[in-house]
Amino acid sequence: MTAQILVVEDTFINMKLVCMLLEKAGYRVLRADNAKDGIALAQRHLPDLILMDIQLPDMDGLEATRLLKEADATRHIKVVALTAFAMKGDEEKMIAAGCDGYIAKPIQYKNFLGEVEKTLSMNLQKEERHDHT
Ligand code: MN
Repeated sequence: MTAQILVVEDTFINMKLVCMLLEKAGYRVLRADNAKDGIALAQRHLPDLILMDIQLPDMDGLEATRLLKEADATRHIKVVALTAFAMKGDEEKMIAAGCDGYIAKPIQYKNFLGEVEKTLSMNLQKEERHDHT
């Protein structure tokens, strides 16, 4: 089945672009424009991947990631941060929060889909390992 991706992003134009790219590539997309709704959708749908904006109106994306990674039901979900400010030290902060990677904004189409595919393939590798054991 096609992978399902949850996009948590509060800037309308970024959300529109990201969802357009994902849908064009054939992914099923869920959307939330704040962290609280994003967490609720993640719990309900258990998507294959979450693209998480860092600056959100209610709670920052790193805190939301931390909450998802602390919960048994959602910790397996891959989270890739969408960040406008990937500066020295930020990568460490994102990793510390439990992010599985990050994509810098403004988004570059080719790199963006490459990163999405790469992260989703980590799920497949995990499933294959389970099959063997
Ligand atoms: Mn934002």
